[in-house]
Amino acid sequence: MAETTTQAESPARKHPVLTDDGYILSMNPRTGELRCKIKCTPVDEVPKIVAEARAAQKRWETLGFEGRKAEMLKVSQYMIEHMDELAEVLAEENGKTYVEAVTMEVLCSIDFMGFFAKNARKALRDQKVPLHLMPLARSYVTYKPVGVVGIIAPWNYPITTPVSDMAPALAAGNAVVVKPSEFSSGAGQLIEKIFKESGFPEGVVRLVYGGGDVGAALIGAGVGHIAFTGSTPTGKKVMAKAAETLTPVTLELGGKDPAIILEDADLDAAAEGILWAGFSNMGQTCASVERVYIHEKVYDRFRDKLVAEAKKLKMKPAEQDSSFGAMNNVMQAEKVNEQLKDAKAKGAKVAYESELPETGYYAAPTILEDVTGDMSVSCDETFGPVIPLFRYQTEDEAIAKANDSPFGLTASIWSRNGDRAERLARRLEAGVVTINDHMITPGFAEAPWGGVKQSGIGRIKSLDALRNYSEKTYIFNDRGTMGNKFWRYPYNLKKLNFLKEIAVAFNDKSLAKRIKGQLSVVPRLLFGKPDKS
Ligand code: NAD
Repeated sequence: MAETTTQAESPARKHPVLTDDGYILSMNPRTGELRCKIKCTPVDEVPKIVAEARAAQKRWETLGFEGRKAEMLKVSQYMIEHMDELAEVLAEENGKTYVEAVTMEVLCSIDFMGFFAKNARKALRDQKVPLHLMPLARSYVTYKPVGVVGIIAPWNYPITTPVSDMAPALAAGNAVVVKPSEFSSGAGQLIEKIFKESGFPEGVVRLVYGGGDVGAALIGAGVGHIAFTGSTPTGKKVMAKAAETLTPVTLELGGKDPAIILEDADLDAAAEGILWAGFSNMGQTCASVERVYIHEKVYDRFRDKLVAEAKKLKMKPAEQDSSFGAMNNVMQAEKVNEQLKDAKAKGAKVAYESELPETGYYAAPTILEDVTGDMSVSCDETFGPVIPLFRYQTEDEAIAKANDSPFGLTASIWSRNGDRAERLARRLEAGVVTINDHMITPGFAEAPWGGVKQSGIGRIKSLDALRNYSEKTYIFNDRGTMGNKFWRYPYNLKKLNFLKEIAVAFNDKSLAKRIKGQLSVVPRLLFGKPDKS
């Protein structure tokens, strides 16, 4: 690792950015220098902030879909007009390259606000629920806001990630209380600024700042839903805490994403795609490629192309066209460097390693070969710019190895044969599988996002996100069309026989019996008189 401001040197000893007197140190990871201090929200103020947000939510809800859409579009327009300024803060506080700050943060956030604002009415209109036993009844689901959605965010996409939850939550008529990561609280302040300066109704979007204690306080503060994105260990704590109040949670957690290069893949395209999906954002994406399984017939050619492409990349984080930024924080840089050290000590071969700047938080973008199961980098989430390469011989072996992980966020298959790739995609244990691409769908507002196994619970984005942040009420009205309330008292043998006839009429395996039964039963259901005897 290049020279950094380490935990030991930093003014706060216990935590690299949380001080004992209640401040967050917002650092510049490219230099390891302090940018500014941000006041933590006192834990006991969190319930009050949620209560205030709940009060503001009532006014927000009454604006209706069109009123809310207009306000949300003002926010996305503001972001369009301030792209450079937003990218500058993200690059400075988060360590991102300028290009990634624009593509992965600003562009996505603009699009998410617009998409959910424009599609909420359609997604949240009443949904008919036809009843085969009572076809004439009026039966439907309605949606109303859950109230306040609590959003607990990580540092790696400090604007896009909270906005991907804020946009559907707001469009559905909720207020939101967002807790940014302590490692990206400057981006939290930027969110506050964006909403304030675009003239968004006051009080509907609130931010609370601090570490895990502030996040935990938010969960217990009476919010209607917690949208959590972060590591798997913290996700488990969040779920346990939410269980105390039965607060619904969506958990977007860690990954160890595999990519499978079939022997018929376009190797140039695959090398280009894997390089980006492994190294961009310095590998600090939940869906970064962290394991590449390559058919033995094409292994050497693929490796050579990948390394040749990697050598073209530029490590000049302060320049606008740099390929690499910095790691976001000292802890993450140390974690990745430890994995690299462990892998090298146990015999992993370095096929490529980038040079590093002299100061700041860094781990060298690295391509590894001969990685074995006893190395942490082979199985633990790295969350850094490390691409380990593995050989395989058969399709079944590749699928088994890809699935051999407690995580299941995303995966990719690279092949010129689309049908074959899609067939294999169905065998992968992952929330998202992409063909001839990787890590692209987080930018699609329409596409459901989330993982299986220990990568999370529930899905975000897509029109379902709007329904996730809504209470569902099912409404049933038979409108007097059900003359025979056959389930009610009094119970007698005649009624018992009728119940058996109903069972046969709708479910018997014989079509003839079903038709005969329904011809007899349906008129009695609809027009029969209640049997009072
Ligand atoms: P983290 O789990 O350390 O922290 C996430 C957030 O939780 C922070 O805001 C933190 O302050 C808060 N927190 C910590 N303890 C808490 C507690 N007990 N109760 C409530 N909140 C608490 O994660 P991180 O280091 O910020 O982010 C990196 C992780 O996030 C990686 O594992 C990455 O894979 C994952 N991630 C997942 C997705 C996804 O969509 N699946 C997206 C981005 C990041």
